[in-house]
Amino acid sequence: MHGLMMDLPLTIASLIEHADRYHGDTEIVSRRIEDGTIHRTTYRDVHARARRLAAALRGLGVEATTRVGTLAWNGYRHFELYYAVSGIGAVCHTINPRLFPEQIAYIVGHADDQVVCFDLTFLPLVEKLAPHCPGVKHWVAMTDRAHMPASALPLQCFEDLIDAHPDGVEWPALDERSASSLCYTSGTTGNPKGVLYSHRSTVLHAYGACLPDALNLSARDVVLPVVPMFHVNAWGLPYSAPLVGAKLVFPGAALDGASLVELFEAEGVTTSAGVPTIWLGLLAHMKAQGLRFGALKRTVIGGSACPPAMIRTFEDDYGVQVLHAWGMTEMSPLGTVNTFKQRQLALDKTARDAIQNKQGRPIYGVDMKIVGDDGAELPRDGQAFGDLLVRGPWICASYFKGEGGDPLRDGWFPTGDVATLDADGFMQITDRSKDVIKSGGEWISSIDLENTAVAHPDVAEAAVIGVAHPKWDERPLLLVVRKPGATLGREEMLAFFEGKVAKWWLPDDVVFVDALPHTATGKLLKTKLREDYGHWKLPTA
Ligand code: AMP
Repeated sequence: MHGLMMDLPLTIASLIEHADRYHGDTEIVSRRIEDGTIHRTTYRDVHARARRLAAALRGLGVEATTRVGTLAWNGYRHFELYYAVSGIGAVCHTINPRLFPEQIAYIVGHADDQVVCFDLTFLPLVEKLAPHCPGVKHWVAMTDRAHMPASALPLQCFEDLIDAHPDGVEWPALDERSASSLCYTSGTTGNPKGVLYSHRSTVLHAYGACLPDALNLSARDVVLPVVPMFHVNAWGLPYSAPLVGAKLVFPGAALDGASLVELFEAEGVTTSAGVPTIWLGLLAHMKAQGLRFGALKRTVIGGSACPPAMIRTFEDDYGVQVLHAWGMTEMSPLGTVNTFKQRQLALDKTARDAIQNKQGRPIYGVDMKIVGDDGAELPRDGQAFGDLLVRGPWICASYFKGEGGDPLRDGWFPTGDVATLDADGFMQITDRSKDVIKSGGEWISSIDLENTAVAHPDVAEAAVIGVAHPKWDERPLLLVVRKPGATLGREEMLAFFEGKVAKWWLPDDVVFVDALPHTATGKLLKTKLREDYGHWKLPTA
């Protein structure tokens, strides 16, 4: 016997319809790409313009399932595209402009993008790409007539398209399982693979993300996603914010500490989100200028391990709660968020800090387990570590066009991370399985060593890789970027580890470098480090 409840589909257009109807006056603030000035609109106007943009896209030949690419920063026009494209059943393909042009051309071709909309910053990139993207029928510059650039390419003007369509579409009825958006993994090896989200997976993820023990979003929040809208849909915030009616603030192209802090303060931002590297710049600016946050209550940090020292600075020095979160492109992306349980509040600070250094516990909708090499499940005791597997309604079941074959193991998605799970459900990443250092049959966590190194006041950033060793197979090599003006040396750095990690974990050598390489989403690019330093001659070898 079926229940007798309405079977309304969970669609992306329903999110912006809700925001229009119940939070119509709530503001969407953006730093303009054209000149850095501030642009203000509302959910009501975004919805109206998204419907007109959808009509314009149909005029360009976009139909259900057509892929529409974006090369754009976080801003209101990108936000309007999220709804216009998915709203008519087409697929919004957010492209990471920081990838190499060859990778982008590959992605555009693989996705079969028919239209690509881009911010003016990316015109030189688009001109380079166009000859290698013969399938793209229209390149749309996301600006108005007055700012249209001169180009040998025939370009469409975003605002002209909207102006030419005074009547917006009525959102069509869609199957909630239909594809809504596409994001390629940042893949450090091989070609990127496409993760194809559905309306249902996106709306369920947006619901889950708002929960108090997840990102804790409400109509009283002002949310500034620093995480780009091309990095797993800005972790779903452009969907979660309209769901609860939170004000949104988009930083455009200005992601330096000073520009961000200015926007935080001017708009009363309560919640933000981004990868650890972005907060390094922001915290350095705050400290140098002796600034305080006026309204910021919490910030979500994920994408790579958040160093405990950064959590402590935010919480103890600035009174800002850190929501350490873990996820991946294949998980829409949220898997775990670190918030305390009632019982843990009574623990002393040291014990609470130790819990907070973990990646957190699953939100409803994500199930996880760890398994050993034989595939057998390992105990949830906070000690045993193994391959982390996940499943849930917003987790990838297969890559776009079946790339790479069936990724699942008995219905579970292997994350490629190695982790522990404790009895309270808290997960801690030991390492990416490719990054863990295998020394004499035991494993050393590169993340633990990096977290320890960056706790030193002279260290700006640190990376640890395994280097071949004749006796132990691999031993850890530490690469350090000193803070400006710091004189930290090898011996002092190594001495800092004593008492903080097991003796046999101590790095065998330290190399001081000017900068470390990062991936297009701001993670340490360990493949490059292994290329450059994998044959480093260790003094212990
Ligand atoms: P991506 O799909 O590019 O977002 O990358 C996902 C991967 O980033 C995960 O599988 C982890 O290896 C890593 N990652 C994400 N968040 C964290 C975190 N909080 N701590 C450690 N690693 C993380």
